[in-house]
Amino acid sequence: MSMTRRQFLFTGAAIGTTWLGGSLAGCAGMSPRVTTMAPGITRIDLGAVAVTMLSDGAFSRPLDAGFVRNAPLAEVQAALAAAGLPADRVEVPFTPLVVDVGGQRVLFDAGNGEFGAATAGRLLDNMGKAGIDTTSITAVVFSHFHGDHINGLRNKAGNIVFPKARIFVPRPEWDWWMDDARQAAAPEAMKGAFAATRRVFLPLASSVQKFEPGAEILPGVHSLPAFGHTPGHTAFMIEGGSQRLLYWADTTNVAPLFVRNPDWAVMFDMDPEAARVTRRKLADWAIRDGLLLAGYHLPGAAIGTLARRGNGYEFAPLA
Ligand SMILES: [Zn+2]
Repeated sequence: MSMTRRQFLFTGAAIGTTWLGGSLAGCAGMSPRVTTMAPGITRIDLGAVAVTMLSDGAFSRPLDAGFVRNAPLAEVQAALAAAGLPADRVEVPFTPLVVDVGGQRVLFDAGNGEFGAATAGRLLDNMGKAGIDTTSITAVVFSHFHGDHINGLRNKAGNIVFPKARIFVPRPEWDWWMDDARQAAAPEAMKGAFAATRRVFLPLASSVQKFEPGAEILPGVHSLPAFGHTPGHTAFMIEGGSQRLLYWADTTNVAPLFVRNPDWAVMFDMDPEAARVTRRKLADWAIRDGLLLAGYHLPGAAIGTLARRGNGYEFAPLA
C-alpha cells in the first residue's frame, strides 16, 4: 500500500483535531521529577502517570552515503561533528518505555530481544534492574513492525516474553506486513523483515488487538497516525499525568541528524515524503503544546523536550 497524498493529508488533519480536548489534562511547563536508577534506566514521575525509560542497548554502524538518502555525505558528517560525535559512524540507541497509566502497565515497543546486535537486547535485564517483573506488563503496544521494535516480544524458544500482556498493533501496519502476496513479491533485502513479523505475530493472529490509528486504545493512551516511516507507523499520546507525553517512536532516527534536519530521510523511512511531513507536524505540535517527548532512537534517556533551532529542531533529554 503506498499512501497517497490525499490519504496522508486526511490522517494528518486528524492529528490537529484529535487533541483539542486534551490540553486541559496536561500542565505544560511543569518539570517532572526525574530519577536515574542505573545507567539506561530513568524514571519520570508525572503524578498519576509513571514512565520508566529502559535502554535496549544500541547499534553502532559505519556511516555511508546511503544512511541519509537525500543529503551529501559531507553534510551528514559535518552534522555529526557539530554534535561532538564521531563522523565515521552512527550510534543508534534503542529505548522502549514502560508507562503506568490508568491502572495498566504498558510497554511501548519490545526491543531487539535475542535477535539484534551483541550490543542490543538489554531490555529484560534493565527491566529486572528497575524492579519491573515481565508478568506485571498488562499491555504491549507496537508503533510499527521493524525488527528492532518487535523481535523482543518472542524469544528464540518461541515463548512470549510478557505472558500476561494484551498485544496492540496498528491495523494498517498489520495489514501491510502480513499480506502474503506482498511478502512473496518483496525484494531480497526485505525478506528478513517480513519473516520477523511472522515469527513474532503469526501465532497471535487471532488474539492480537488491531487498532485504527487515532483511537484511544487504553485509558489515557491515544494512538495517532504518524505514517511514513512505515505504512502504519503510529505515535501515542499518554494523558492523565502532570504533563502530556508524546511517544513518537521512529518519527526521527538519531537526533543530531534528523531532529536537527527534519527534511533529511533516513534509509529506513519507507515513504520519505510522508515521513518528513509527519516529522514536522508532530515536532511543531510538541513545541506548541509543551509536550514531553519520547522517541525510540533519541539520545540519553530518550525523553525530554523539543525546541525550534534554525530550520529544524533540537531535542533536550531530561537525563
Ligand atoms: Zn526503529
